[in-house]
Amino acid sequence: MSKTIICESCGAAYEDSLRRCPFCGTATPEADENAYMDKLEETRLDLEEYGPKSMDKMKKSVLNTVFIGFIVILVITVLAVAMVWFDGFRDNRERNKRKEELLKDQGVTVGMLEVEINEM
Ligand SMILES: [Zn+2]
Repeated sequence: MSKTIICESCGAAYEDSLRRCPFCGTATPEADENAYMDKLEETRLDLEEYGPKSMDKMKKSVLNTVFIGFIVILVITVLAVAMVWFDGFRDNRERNKRKEELLKDQGVTVGMLEVEINEM
């Protein structure tokens, strides 16, 4: 936002974006201040981009990435364990079925076997 200022020495009006009066060349304190403030703002924005705040943001994003990675690893582990467990479960069932069939072939049913064990 530029505004008009009046030169202190010659009284001419000109925009405050100029650091000197275009008519007499006198430096304008207001324009100097504005230029300084602009530079300050620029520096502040630079600091915001590379300063401690951005470090916090970076840390947060790194933490997020680590967290997501952890979740993914956890899910994969759970899936792997579940698959191994299910395989074992299926193997066990098949083994039991085979055992039953073997016993049936020998004329022994699982019920009879249980009775025998109970009587012992
Ligand atoms: Zn002037």
